[in-house]
Amino acid sequence: STFLGLGLDPLIVTHLTTKMSISKPTSIQQAALPILLAKPSEDTSLRDVFIQSQTGSGKTLSFLLPIIEDLLPMSSLSYIDRTIGTLAIIIAPTRELAKQISDVLEALLQLRLRPSDEESMDSAPRLTRWLVSGLLTGGATRTHEKARLRKGVPILVSTPGRLLDHLQNTASFNVGKCRWLVLDEADRLMELGFEETIQGILKGLDGRRKLAAQAVQEGKSMEVGGWDWERRRRTVLCSATIREDVQKLAGTTLEDPVVIKA
Ligand code: AMP
Repeated sequence: STFLGLGLDPLIVTHLTTKMSISKPTSIQQAALPILLAKPSEDTSLRDVFIQSQTGSGKTLSFLLPIIEDLLPMSSLSYIDRTIGTLAIIIAPTRELAKQISDVLEALLQLRLRPSDEESMDSAPRLTRWLVSGLLTGGATRTHEKARLRKGVPILVSTPGRLLDHLQNTASFNVGKCRWLVLDEADRLMELGFEETIQGILKGLDGRRKLAAQAVQEGKSMEVGGWDWERRRRTVLCSATIREDVQKLAGTTLEDPVVIKA
């Protein structure tokens, strides 16, 4: 099985092989990619996913690749409305894990888009021109983080506490159109006592989504053509174990999930 065969965009496949030396999908990637890459037209339900796998299995790419592919059409829009805000949020239990995920994400965003007729392959714009990633771990000052969020961070990697803090206190943090939520290492999130924080995050995200939908209805927010901005938010939960506490978290965060083990 190959990344192309699993339905990944050839641009991304080329970037993986030539720039990241990743050419053959791991078994968790083989199982997860077809489900997470499905377009609404192919699978109207866009199911939530529970990934049960150990660290080292390649689970990070199994959720990052579908997010990148889903957001890739942004790069063909001539004008990106900065008010679109954050479209994907990845929550990790510790600063170190969040940094690791952010590093992989940064490497993926170095992807060069298809060159136009005047451009050579080496001068085609990188995906980072449209898709900026951000890391929120409480390592920077809140004021600095607020300023970044105000400018718009399409893909955010965060630890739980700082994320909830900004959802509650940063009015310019635009997450009303967030379409991906990943809870990585859910077993550790539970061990570290983050259950209530996660529930608060979900409540914050749902509240902001309602406000965003209302603003669109009232004509206060601009719509960008050619993209399904109103799509439901998909949630992916990763855990090495399916303990009782993890199942409980899955029960409150996932809707009718597909369970993938590898
Ligand atoms: P993870 O389980 O996501 O933490 O990934 C563990 C390591 O495997 C990371 O260093 C990845 O860069 C690497 N990796 C992920 N997918 C692949 C792949 N398909 N082929 C080779 N290495 C990979």
